[in-house]
Amino acid sequence: MNILIYNEFFHEQDPNERAHAVYPNGMHNAIADFLREDQELHVRTVTLANVEEITEDVLKQTDVIIWWGHCCHDDVPDAVAERVQEAVLNGMGAIFLHSAHKSKPFMRLMGTSCSLTWRESDDMERIWVTAPYHPIAAGLDRCFEIPADETYGEPFGIPTPDETVFIGWFTGGEVFRSGCTWQRGWGRVFYFQPGHETYPIFFDPNVQTVIRNAVRWASPVRRTADCMDCPCLPKAHKGTL
Ligand code: ZN
Repeated sequence: MNILIYNEFFHEQDPNERAHAVYPNGMHNAIADFLREDQELHVRTVTLANVEEITEDVLKQTDVIIWWGHCCHDDVPDAVAERVQEAVLNGMGAIFLHSAHKSKPFMRLMGTSCSLTWRESDDMERIWVTAPYHPIAAGLDRCFEIPADETYGEPFGIPTPDETVFIGWFTGGEVFRSGCTWQRGWGRVFYFQPGHETYPIFFDPNVQTVIRNAVRWASPVRRTADCMDCPCLPKAHKGTL
């Protein structure tokens, strides 16, 4: 399986930011490191500096893309976002982490505001498993805690998810749909809320379990490209998907 991780890699490069101390090599490498423990996963990383490497050909070879972005969403070219959207519609899986809720590809795939409420106050978050039967929740207890996290709160401006796998509760009282899935065309999409850049959240074993499970779940069952010459596509669609 080919996994492509995009991280804008902005906060972590500033030595004055807390994110630099937590992720000196960037969040993309922290995520890549634990995914690479699985010999079946071939993991490639891309940052904003080389975002144009996300070409149509690369996406055709990618089973699942993982996306982390925050303050550089607008710097991602529209053409790249469109390519990611198209690839998902044609079967590629996509996982959007934390502040990627406002990334161009996620907003294109959702078609809604994707807005939410937020504050930074080191609240503890308890993440409740609301769909224990879901493959993304495999191996987790009824809930798990993240000692400190940025608070995200409802209302979350997303289309009603196919499944809400997790709901987060924060010590300040907010609740949030922290893990949601959607089918978009032939592709599977998962949004997962934890992952603010100043906390070591991508080193958390439960968070790593969720992301590992999500990679497996989001990998393509079948892509439109597999069907160009087979009878399951109506003739009119051949070559157009
Ligand atoms: Zn954040």
